[in-house]
Amino acid sequence: MLLTWTPEPDLTVARAARLCYSPGGEAQVAEGMAQDEVCRLVARLWEAGHLSPFEHASFQFYVEGSRAMLAQLTRHRIASYSVQSLRYVTPDRPCYVLPPAFRKDPALREIYRSEMARAFGVYRRLLDEGAPPEDARMVLGQGVATRLVATFNARSLHNFFRLRCCRRAQWEIRRIAYDMLREVKRVAPALFERAGSPCESEGRCPEGALSCGRYRHLRRVPAGRGRRGPDPGHSDGDRLE
Ligand SMILES: Cc1cc2nc3c(=O)[nH]c(=O)nc-3n(C[C@H](O)[C@H](O)[C@H](O)COP(=O)(O)OP(=O)(O)OC[C@H]3O[C@@H](n4cnc5c(N)ncnc54)[C@H](O)[C@@H]3O)c2cc1C
Repeated sequence: MLLTWTPEPDLTVARAARLCYSPGGEAQVAEGMAQDEVCRLVARLWEAGHLSPFEHASFQFYVEGSRAMLAQLTRHRIASYSVQSLRYVTPDRPCYVLPPAFRKDPALREIYRSEMARAFGVYRRLLDEGAPPEDARMVLGQGVATRLVATFNARSLHNFFRLRCCRRAQWEIRRIAYDMLREVKRVAPALFERAGSPCESEGRCPEGALSCGRYRHLRRVPAGRGRRGPDPGHSDGDRLE
């Protein structure tokens, strides 16, 4: 969920870029710009690969998900993170992410659910026996739920969407990436017009033999007919239990 963002992010970036090309000072930088001029300038920056002005706009998100997702998200170094700590917060009930594959299959779901309950029971026992929370948490698996706040600038977000909206990314972080993309598009349509996986944004795939082949289908979809819409392979089946 998008919590807060730089006011007028499209204009903020366009303004900074305009200064590079104009002789004026403070008054000119502070001047407004028509939205079509903003869009033209942002598109020009994108085409030229002059992306440093995108760093002037920041976006802060609240994210919930598994510790497996946390490990992947925090690989994106050009962002700031604050994560709920199991050293200071001790959950009073099992709270974990249910993968879609387990949701669909009652037998797998039951194995997973009982294992989570068992691990959580051991966690509680360790705490009750006086174990430090930072050590007791070691028995909780990668599916255990976590909460965090993450702040990205627009340039880093583009890189994140490029990598994590791709079908090769794991389903949970892909779902989160699509949710984040939808929200930033709402407040910064010019900045994120071309955001997404390479097949969505460029109609090509850099994955070679590992490609899922989706780009071939998207190439056949005329622009404006859902080409940049949600990934049909995108699963939204997870939820916290
Ligand atoms: C499908 C998929 C599979 C993956 N599989 C694995 C895996 O098996 N094992 C694994 O370890 N990781 C894996 N990753 C993680 C991946 O390698 C990256 O660590 C992660 O996606 C973060 O990307 P990034 O470095 O571009 O992002 P950021 O850290 O946000 O960096 C953004 C950009 O800044 C620049 N940059 C940042 N730091 C430096 C630096 N120190 N030096 C130079 N330039 C820098 C780079 O241009 C970089 O692209 C996978 C990622 C994906 C999407």
